[in-house]
Amino acid sequence: MNKADSERMAGILKSMGYIEAKKELEADLVLYNTCTIRDNAEQKVYSYLGRQVQRKHSLPHLKLVVAGCLAQQEGEALLRRVPEIDLVMGPQHANRLESLLTKVETGNQVVATEEHHILEDLTTARRDSKICGWVNVIYGCNERCTYCVVPAVRGKEQSRTPDAIKKEIEDLAINGYKEITLLGQNIDAYGRDLPGINTNGRRKNTLTDLLYYVHNVKGIERIRFATSHPRYFTERLIRACAELPKICEHFHIPFQSGDNYILKQMARGYSIEKYMRIINNIRSLIPHAAISADVIVGFPGETNQQFKNTLNVLERIGFDHVNTAAYSPRPNTPAALWKNQLSEETKIDRLQEINELVEKIAKQRNERYRNKIEEVLVESINPKDNKQLMGRTRTNRLTFFPKSIINRSINIGETINIKIDSIRSFSLSGTPIN
Ligand code: SAH
Ligand code: SF4
Repeated sequence: MNKADSERMAGILKSMGYIEAKKELEADLVLYNTCTIRDNAEQKVYSYLGRQVQRKHSLPHLKLVVAGCLAQQEGEALLRRVPEIDLVMGPQHANRLESLLTKVETGNQVVATEEHHILEDLTTARRDSKICGWVNVIYGCNERCTYCVVPAVRGKEQSRTPDAIKKEIEDLAINGYKEITLLGQNIDAYGRDLPGINTNGRRKNTLTDLLYYVHNVKGIERIRFATSHPRYFTERLIRACAELPKICEHFHIPFQSGDNYILKQMARGYSIEKYMRIINNIRSLIPHAAISADVIVGFPGETNQQFKNTLNVLERIGFDHVNTAAYSPRPNTPAALWKNQLSEETKIDRLQEINELVEKIAKQRNERYRNKIEEVLVESINPKDNKQLMGRTRTNRLTFFPKSIINRSINIGETINIKIDSIRSFSLSGTPIN
């Protein structure tokens, strides 16, 4: 989500005539698009800012912009802490960057953090990839998980219209993009804020409807979506994914904890049994689907047994990947005020233990690719070895392979069959075949 916002803001800067500087410490304007999901993300911003503030003392024309979730969380307080900043802007204001910078030009310090209706973006994003594009479909979050700062910083849910989304995908296809990833904090909540009921009394404009609506865009070969919330993940959605050939067989569905008591404390709105049912349904319709998730360890009051229940779910499901995090108390969230916080030591120990298990399971899961032929969309040269290309399988496994096949070179953007011959926990290598 932040990457997509960064690409949109970079697109606005480009349309204003800005040119990308080679180095961060040579730029005349520096924009940090910040994250505040955990404390360590927040601390990084202050250390980056520190270096720019040093420069600004001898280069008064240097413009410093702090955008994104930390900007939203801190607002004016950020100006008090770092008075050298010119512009503080929350994520809902990303599309307004040009007009906000115009205000800065008049010599004002500007803070844009008020609740804002996100306008359709008129500039073209400056995208990092020429093959895979992010497409926002819903901004914000209406949940209230007790640990999470997102609703406070990204505001209420705002769905884009199906037509605006389709138009963006068509533009991507015209420009040679082959894969799109539809984005939302809880993407399966898409459309709740849009009007419309079908004749059968069912809500129109669900994520499932959207997938059917955008599926026929010519030129786009692969469609992904993230992140799914177990609470809104329907059987109808799974059936659509099984039926529509462009939807890739990968589902990212965070479960956060394998213990029902902790899930309740987190206010997640589902039980682990419901989560297991979703995964079973996916596997019965799409047996080779890859499943990934997010998990928090060391939530306030989490006992050793409750932590073990999370490890147990990992084993039972056999995830392809899990993003793990130690619980980090966030400002203005209920759980941060509870008295039953765990020590840093316990949290770090649990994080280490779970990471080892995640890696072990991922490697076991990858065995299913050995000697198999996988369809890979070629995305780029391997930055660590320029004799190789890299891309991903439909199940989202990063795959490395040589640059040519028989007597021709392989092109970026091509879809190619790769015979997988070596396996690591989070990536594969193989040989292109005709
Ligand atoms: N909307 C998605 C997740 C968005 S936040 C969902 O509900 O599943 C991305 C991930 O950051 C979360 O899934 C969670 O695992 C992690 N996270 C959020 N707040 C956190 C906190 N206070 N401490 C540690 N991890 C956190
Ligand atoms: Fe929203 Fe909960 Fe996800 Fe945070 S973790 S973004 S509150 S659903």
